[in-house]
Amino acid sequence: MKSDVDANADWRKAKRSWNMSRIRGKDTKPELMVRSILHRMGYRFRLNRKDLPGKPDIVFPAYKTVLFVHGCYWHRHKSCKNATTPANNREFWIRKFADTVQRDMRNQQDLRKMGWIVAVIWECHIRRDPVLAVTNALIDAGMLTDDTPYPTELSIEQLRTVVRERFNVGWKR
Ligand SMILES: [Zn+2]
Repeated sequence: MKSDVDANADWRKAKRSWNMSRIRGKDTKPELMVRSILHRMGYRFRLNRKDLPGKPDIVFPAYKTVLFVHGCYWHRHKSCKNATTPANNREFWIRKFADTVQRDMRNQQDLRKMGWIVAVIWECHIRRDPVLAVTNALIDAGMLTDDTPYPTELSIEQLRTVVRERFNVGWKR
């Protein structure tokens, strides 16, 4: 069993290499897909508003809505096979993950108190079918309802084709 100081160093190292891989672009793919789809759908949005709790990934000022694109591992997607826990220092990681989940919940509560609508898109859903994941999030946020016309000239199938060609993804149907 490592000391908490060592375990903390492990945690920081893991986070850092995760962030680096995001910066290198490999893992930003899901977020890029979401942005690309929203853009194709004609939505206007801003990115990473640092002045808002939790720095939401995507902000729709016109709808007073924020969207978080959450990685299943760090943000602990419930019952998701990607939300694994390292066997080494298990207790420590469980505690750290719990902190993250709590922080996410607090940020979302704070945003709601400020009058924002909050929706989350999980990475595994994006990987399975990005267009469906985005559409579901917009429905969750109330931005798409039975009354609103589908906000693009493109059909869902055409959007899928665009994403498939641009990002070279094949998702399960
Ligand atoms: Zn997941």
